[in-house]
Amino acid sequence: MSAPEEKRYYQYSRYLKELFGQKVYKVTLDAGFSCPNRDGAISSGGCIFCDASGSFSCAHDNKLSIKEQLHIGIENQRKRFGAQKFISYLQAYTNTYGSIEHLEKVYSQALSHEDVVGISIGTRPDCVDEDKISLILSYSKDYETWIEYGLQSSNDETLRFINRGHTVKDFIHAVEMTKNKGIKICAHVILGLPNETNKDALNTARLLASLGVDGVKIHLLCVLKNTKLEQMYNNNEISLLSKNEYVEVVCDFLEELPPSMTIHRLAGNGLKKILVAPRWLSDKFEVLTAIDDELEKRESYQGKNFSSCIPGG
Ligand code: SF4
Repeated sequence: MSAPEEKRYYQYSRYLKELFGQKVYKVTLDAGFSCPNRDGAISSGGCIFCDASGSFSCAHDNKLSIKEQLHIGIENQRKRFGAQKFISYLQAYTNTYGSIEHLEKVYSQALSHEDVVGISIGTRPDCVDEDKISLILSYSKDYETWIEYGLQSSNDETLRFINRGHTVKDFIHAVEMTKNKGIKICAHVILGLPNETNKDALNTARLLASLGVDGVKIHLLCVLKNTKLEQMYNNNEISLLSKNEYVEVVCDFLEELPPSMTIHRLAGNGLKKILVAPRWLSDKFEVLTAIDDELEKRESYQGKNFSSCIPGG
């Protein structure tokens, strides 16, 4: 079956098109940040699924300046897609991990092209404070401004197991510090984490719904080369979701979210070279089509089980 024109969930790309009247493309930038969960500030081991490039990042040569990366990324997307408007996306590692002065330099370079209409900053929820939020907020007057917080799971036991180095409370605190000011919030989650059931996934979806975050990026737990998770996988210490199981849990997850929450991603991409397992993830289109088909089969959609009613309210 082919993917329907109109999705049963609110794609981020559709949101951007509605906002800017045209398709907007993300340009991924590597600003050369580190991560406190890798450099020893919190731990030196990192999250068990994180590869040396900061996990889920696209490869960029961070010896190039941000301006150079931006220019090259924009020109590439212009040639490939005829793209005209762009969002600078600081993805690899922890992009608020530095002094205010340094962050200001990085962010202003990321916005230094006339066709950039927004900025998206990926970080950990324990790496923001009021000063950093104020700096990021200052861009929201002129640019579509997002912070992407890695949560992964709403279960603290899971966070400990995967060595996240932060708690669910840290995430809630970061969201409360950020929201209702003009900065949009996207949460990153991983489905199929070790020892988690579908109930954990639903709890995570419900937490995001209750906090009113603006968007979510959903990943499947996948094993990348040269990670702690790869060792665990090779030792048969963890199991991974099958494609059908993933499709089921993604659909369950979407049903819990408010219809207005933007869906930034439903399956990882760009990982083929370093992907160990599951191999079925390498055909992203097939996964997305299976999700469309499952929602159609259920006659379901994002928000089907979401209720904004406050008991007694
Ligand atoms: S917080 Fe991100 S960059 Fe840091 S160890 Fe975890 S996945 Fe890797």
